[in-house]
Amino acid sequence: MSANSMPDAVSKAPPQEMVRITTDQWTQPFWDATKEHRLVGAQCGDCGKFRVPPSPMCPKCHSQRIDWVPLSGKGTIYTYTIITRAMFPSMEPHIPYVPAVISLEGAGGTRLVSNIVGARVGDIAIGGKVRVIWEDHADGKTVPHFALEPG
Ligand SMILES: [Zn+2]
Repeated sequence: MSANSMPDAVSKAPPQEMVRITTDQWTQPFWDATKEHRLVGAQCGDCGKFRVPPSPMCPKCHSQRIDWVPLSGKGTIYTYTIITRAMFPSMEPHIPYVPAVISLEGAGGTRLVSNIVGARVGDIAIGGKVRVIWEDHADGKTVPHFALEPG
């Protein structure tokens, strides 16, 4: 089935059980912020370079300092794919879903792997404007997805 076979379908969130989040000292602040429905980016505390995903050392200046800065939650679709087939039965209600790489506004060109949710599939395009939306999961984590900006 090609993506064009369901242009009027509305994109869904993937099954929560497919999203397994493990955190460590370098990523915990990101997930603490999502619980409060805030999108933050890791920025080097010395040279200002953003690093996504956050890593122990800045690739530019080797500093270990990180400032977590609030982001607008707006972004642009860098690339995406449309999943139109359920790989297992419990996925069926979540079809189609649309994993996407989002270029984040105000984050130095960094990108976040996420999903586009609640969009008419035929309206999704590279370069499209999106904004963050939140899905609170049963396990207590909150996951950022993105919705198309109107217009
Ligand atoms: Zn740096």
